[in-house]
Amino acid sequence: MTDEFDVVIVGAGVAGLQMLHKVRELGLTVRVFEAGGDAGGTWYWNRYPGARCDVESLEYSYQFSEELQQEWEWTERFATQPEILSYIDHVVERFDLRRDIRFDTRIAALTYDEPAARWTARTEAGDEVVARFVIMATGCLSAANVPEIAGLETFAGEIYHTGRWPHGPVELSGKRVGVIGTGSSGVQSIPVIAEEAEELYVFQRTAAYTLPAGNQPLDAELQAAVKADYAGFRARNSAMPSAGLARFPPNPASVFLVSDREREAAFEYRWQRGGPVLLGAFNDIMVDKAANDLAADFVRRKIRQIVKDPDVAALLSPKQLIGCKRICLDTGYYETFNRPNVHLVDVASAPIQQITPGGIRTSAGDHELDVIVFATGFDAMTGPLLRIDIRGRGGLPLKEKWSAGPRTYLGLGVPGFPNLFTMTGPGSPSVLTNMMVSIHQHVTWIGGCLKYLADNDISAVEATTEATDAWVLHVNEVADRTLFPSCNSWYLGANIPGKTRVFMPLFGFPAYAQTCAEVAANAYEGFTLTRSGMAPAQAT
Ligand code: FAD
Ligand code: NAP
Repeated sequence: MTDEFDVVIVGAGVAGLQMLHKVRELGLTVRVFEAGGDAGGTWYWNRYPGARCDVESLEYSYQFSEELQQEWEWTERFATQPEILSYIDHVVERFDLRRDIRFDTRIAALTYDEPAARWTARTEAGDEVVARFVIMATGCLSAANVPEIAGLETFAGEIYHTGRWPHGPVELSGKRVGVIGTGSSGVQSIPVIAEEAEELYVFQRTAAYTLPAGNQPLDAELQAAVKADYAGFRARNSAMPSAGLARFPPNPASVFLVSDREREAAFEYRWQRGGPVLLGAFNDIMVDKAANDLAADFVRRKIRQIVKDPDVAALLSPKQLIGCKRICLDTGYYETFNRPNVHLVDVASAPIQQITPGGIRTSAGDHELDVIVFATGFDAMTGPLLRIDIRGRGGLPLKEKWSAGPRTYLGLGVPGFPNLFTMTGPGSPSVLTNMMVSIHQHVTWIGGCLKYLADNDISAVEATTEATDAWVLHVNEVADRTLFPSCNSWYLGANIPGKTRVFMPLFGFPAYAQTCAEVAANAYEGFTLTRSGMAPAQAT
C-alpha cells in the first residue's frame, strides 16, 4: 500500500527542517525526503576547506524558538561550516526532527492527480508516496555545476567539486592542485588550499570582487546584548532590503554629494570594518554606473596595494561592475597570490581546452596536476527544481512551463501546479538576502496558508496566471531599476550554457514580505482556492 501524508517536503536543509517543525505544529502528517545522508543541505554538502558563512552568526540562525536562540552560543563573527552543521544537528535533535526524514532518498518525479487533488512523489529507487501538498525545500544552490570539459573522465588524479566535498579527510599536502573558479567557493577555499598544497594553480575566467570578511572571535558582550533583545534584533534586520546588517545600515546619501576625501574615508572605514558593507557606503552604488565605478576603483586600488606582482594584480582586478555578481568575502585571498607556490592562470585569454590524464590543457599550454577542484558553482534557483520531473495539471511538465524562464507568483506558487509551494523560489528575495530570514518568512507564510485551507475546507490552492504574469513583470521592473541584470551572473542563469536568461530573485525584502502578508490577509488574493468536492471557490 502506498503511504499517504498531508504534506511531503523535499529537502532537509535549513528550510526543510523549519518547514517540518511548522507542519507538525499544525497537526498535519508529513514526510521529508533528502538526497543527502543527513540534514543540513548547503552545510552538509559544502565541506571544502575554508567554507564558512558570510552572514554574521547572530543573524544566520533560526528565530522560530526563543529558547533555541538563547541557548546556542556562536563562537565566531562568521561561523565555519562545521559550526553551522553542529548547530543544525542540535536543532534536529532538540526538535526531534530526524524521525520524519528519509535520508539518502532523492525524489525523481512529482505528479499531480487532478481528480484526487493529490501529488505522487516517486523516489529514484522507485518508491512512491502520496500527499495533498508538496513543499519544495530543494534549495537555490544545491544543484552542483560541473562544466562539460573534454577529457574530464581521462584525468588520472582526484577530482572534487566544492559543493560535493567528501566527508573524510582530503590529503592535499605534497600535491599539485588546480582550482577552477574564483567565485565565493574558490575565494574561500584558495587561501586554505594554498597553505597545504605543494603547488596551487588557480584557473580564473572572471576575476571576482572580494572584500575582507574581518572574521574574529565573537564578542561576548555583543552576543549577550543581542540575546537580551533578540526579537528586536530580528525585527530591525527584517526591515532592511537584504534582511540583515541593521547594525551597519546602508548610507542613504549619494556618493556625488561628498568630497573625494570623504568618499575615500567612507570606503576605507567600511573596508576595515569587514563584511559586505562597502556596497552600502552610498545609496547609488547598485543603481548608478558612475557611482559603482568609484567603489570598484577603490577595490582595484586595494588589490594593487596587496598583490606584489603588478601583472598578477592586474589579472585579479575585476572589470565588471562591483556587486553585480554576488560579492565575495575572504580571509587573505589577495595576499595568497604573493605566495611562491600559488600561480594564477588566466583562462579568459587562454581558455581551458581539455582535461588530460596529467592535468589541464589551456590554449597557452599544459599544467600538470594531481588534484582538480571544481569551484564552478551551481545551476542556481531553477536547477534543483528542474532536475525533478515535476508534472502539474494535465501532465504539464514544469520544464515546459518554464521553458522561457521561471514564472512564479511571489516565488511561492506556479499556475498549473496546485498545492505545490516553492520555498525561496525564483521571484522571491531569497539569494539577495540573509536566507535564514527569507526562509523564516516563507515557512510562516506557507504554514499560515495551510492553516487557512484547513480551516476553510479548501482542498486546492493554485496561483493564477494573471497574478503570476503581473508578478514576473514586477520582479523584472525592480531588477531593471538596479545594475544587477548588467553582468553575466548566476542570478541571471548566465553561468549555465543554454539556460534562459532571466533575473530570478526579487530585490528588496521588506516590500516583498509586506505584499505576502497582504495577499494572506486578503484571502490569498491571486490564488484560486478550490473547496473540497467543488469547483474553484475563488478566482482572483
Ligand atoms: P539547501 O541547504 O540547499 O538544502 C536543500 C536540500 O534539498 C539539499 O540537502 C538537497 O540535497 C536536497 N534536495 C534537492 N533536490 C532533492 C531531491 N530531488 N530529492 C531529495 N532531496 C533533494 N546564504 C546566506 O544567507 N548566507 C551565507 O553566508 C551563505 N553561504 C553559503 C555558502 C555556500 C557554500 C553555499 C553553497 C550557499 C550559501 N548560502 C548562504 C545559501 C544557502 O544555500 C542558504 O543560506 C541556505 O542554506 C539554504 O537552505 P535550503 O534549505 O533552502 O537549501
Ligand atoms: P560561482 O559564484 O558561480 O563561481 C563559479 C566560478 O567558476 C566562477 O569564477 C566561474 O567563472 C567559474 N567557472 C565556471 N565554469 C567555468 C569553466 N568552464 N571554466 C572556467 N571557469 C569556470 O559559484 P560559487 O563560488 O560556488 O558560489 C555560488 C554562490 O554560493 C555564491 O554566489 C554564494 O551565493 C554562495 N556561496 C556563499 C559562500 C559564502 O561566502 N558564505 C561561499 C560559497 C558559495 P565565470 O564567472 O567566468 O563564469
